[in-house]
Amino acid sequence: MTASDQQAAPARHRDNPLNTPACFVKGVGPSTALLLAKRGIQTAGDLLLHFPHRYDDRTQLRRIAQLRDGEKVTVIGRLAGCEGTRTKKGRFLIKAYLSDDTGTLELVFFNQWFLKNTFTRLHGKWLSAYGAVEVSPWGVRMANPEWEELDEEDPLHSARITPVYPLTEGLYQKTVRRVVQNALALCLDHVAELLPEAMRARHRLVGIREALLNIHHPEDAGKLDLARRRLVFEEFFFLQLALAMRKRNLQEDKPGIAFPLADDFDRRFQAALPFALTTAQQRVIAEIRADMGSTRAMNRLLQGDVGSGKTVVATAAILTALDAGYQAALMAPTEILAEQHYLTLSRMLQPFGVELHLLIGSVKPKGKQIVRERLADGRCQLVIGTHALIQESVGFKKLGLVIIDEQHRFGVLQRLELVQKGLNPDVLVMSATPIPRTLALTVYGDLDVSVIDELPPGRKPVRTFWKQEKDRANVYRGIERFLAEGRQAYVVCPLVEENERLTAQAATELYERLQGEVFPTRRVGLIHGQMGAWEKQEVMERFRAGEIDLLVATTVIEVGVDVPNATVMMVENADRFGLATLHQLRGRIRRSDRTAYCVLMADPSTADAKHRLRTLEQCDDGFRLADEDLRLRGPGEFYGTRQSGLLNLRLADVVGDAHTLELARREAFALVKADPELALPEHRPLREELERRYHSLVWATVS
Ligand code: ADP
Ligand code: MG
Repeated sequence: MTASDQQAAPARHRDNPLNTPACFVKGVGPSTALLLAKRGIQTAGDLLLHFPHRYDDRTQLRRIAQLRDGEKVTVIGRLAGCEGTRTKKGRFLIKAYLSDDTGTLELVFFNQWFLKNTFTRLHGKWLSAYGAVEVSPWGVRMANPEWEELDEEDPLHSARITPVYPLTEGLYQKTVRRVVQNALALCLDHVAELLPEAMRARHRLVGIREALLNIHHPEDAGKLDLARRRLVFEEFFFLQLALAMRKRNLQEDKPGIAFPLADDFDRRFQAALPFALTTAQQRVIAEIRADMGSTRAMNRLLQGDVGSGKTVVATAAILTALDAGYQAALMAPTEILAEQHYLTLSRMLQPFGVELHLLIGSVKPKGKQIVRERLADGRCQLVIGTHALIQESVGFKKLGLVIIDEQHRFGVLQRLELVQKGLNPDVLVMSATPIPRTLALTVYGDLDVSVIDELPPGRKPVRTFWKQEKDRANVYRGIERFLAEGRQAYVVCPLVEENERLTAQAATELYERLQGEVFPTRRVGLIHGQMGAWEKQEVMERFRAGEIDLLVATTVIEVGVDVPNATVMMVENADRFGLATLHQLRGRIRRSDRTAYCVLMADPSTADAKHRLRTLEQCDDGFRLADEDLRLRGPGEFYGTRQSGLLNLRLADVVGDAHTLELARREAFALVKADPELALPEHRPLREELERRYHSLVWATVS
């Protein structure tokens, strides 16, 4: 232990300044304390970890005349005037004009009427504004920028790097800067160094105190880089340490089941299928069966683009378990998808005489009771369901295999709950979201990975077109022509303000308009999240049977639904969706060897949205899109990975910091290999920190 470690040893004591309640930090009044608490900041130590989300680098200031379209920058100028108007649609619009000695920038704010008074008061003052620049022949503007009033006499000449913190409503940038500064003064000296000295030397990482100081108040850009790198490394390191320990706990503490593998399996399985397996499917089935045949418990992620044929692969795994006299469970994120799997698997498993049941929330209590009984006595060999599988009092006689579809919809802990119903069963996680390698390492670092990198033969890319409102009539005519040919179509409408009820209402209105005015002679159907499960299933059943020509749907159809004759899709307000979601959606129509058509309706205002739509027009490869999406949106937004509870990364960016991730991962796995329980005295602080950050992840399955 180094001297500084010893000083820091009582880090978790009550009297450690790091644990000072935030309200006792200088400059924090009762109301500020409440606002900070909203952001999860309770103590002085939390303030130290409240990192800036960006910096205004005034050493690199841009003048208004030099601004380029689409870039995100900070501009400093004097407020030269403001005006308020109403748009045609009745929205309030405030325009403020910011000037420097090279030109004038228009700042536009929607529905923030109160700003009129604010800006009138600030006339002639120095302001900084941060946002995306839009250059047009009519001038330069920024829509809804972040802005703040500046104190200085002449901020253009105070060349500094200023931190910009994430705020909540009512909390001011100036306040946060001041109280973070005070928190640093109060407790920086008491922050413990967690990374072993040798490790820091190997990767040239600066000490924790220097890093914290410079992340908040960088002396210069170089120091800021070093500080960030150190903190990013630490974040990745603990995450990877958690994953390494979890992987070890899963694999080495308890032996898994060694399923006996029949020699003639491949032949029998292939003979029962209506199509030939692709090479990729065969390879992946072999990987899975090799895992299942060994005593090591399988923990494998199966990735494949939408429509790559993961269900067949799952079926092979299921049969392997059943052959050996074990039961299998398949968990899907939605009732529609569970039902769909149930239908597909009933068909595929028919030649094998398997007893399988569906267990979802909407099954009547009586029916559930029967399924539960048959699972408990072992007659039911395969159960397919939603999270009802973990919520209900479901017990198995001999659960040997757990398959989880569309994993990104479930939290890591839900995965564990189902697994715990068996005696260390093998686990196969399937994801249609092609996860970039870096992210896979981060989120699924405890899993082995198999990839289906090939689509069934004859699949043509979906032809995708971005259309604008003015083309609407043409789009409808096109859809009508396809319907006349006997094809079926989806019209997808997006979430309205993240509100299911409003969304359902919007979908219903769209449905009424399409049936009443646009396609009066066609059979239009409707499905949305507010409908009962049976109602939804009935609609899907009718769509599948061809009794509905055109289905108006919310994103409930996003995952997994498989209706081969539906080869046309129109997505309303496509600019409100991310790349990955749009790709998932159009995957619904890439289900046959006929060319499918997808129309993305959008009149986007941002450069980002335009870029997304153009990318989708040009690219049909899920893996490439996933990388692009990750780059555009950042990992937190990527497919709800935030909910999985794993990506609580404050600073680290799995794309931009991929190299640091690799280094941290190598260190973490090597450390766990050398000291599996982190029992050595010099590793004790690491273990304590790990328990603090990732307790449930590491220790949830082991007592
Ligand atoms: P996903 O990977 O999206 O879950 P599915 O397993 O639902 O894909 O398969 C998509 C469609 O492709 C299904 O209709 C399935 O029957 C079909 N399919 C799967 N594998 C093959 C194959 N090797 N040849 C032809 N069709 C296949
Ligand atoms: Mg699927």
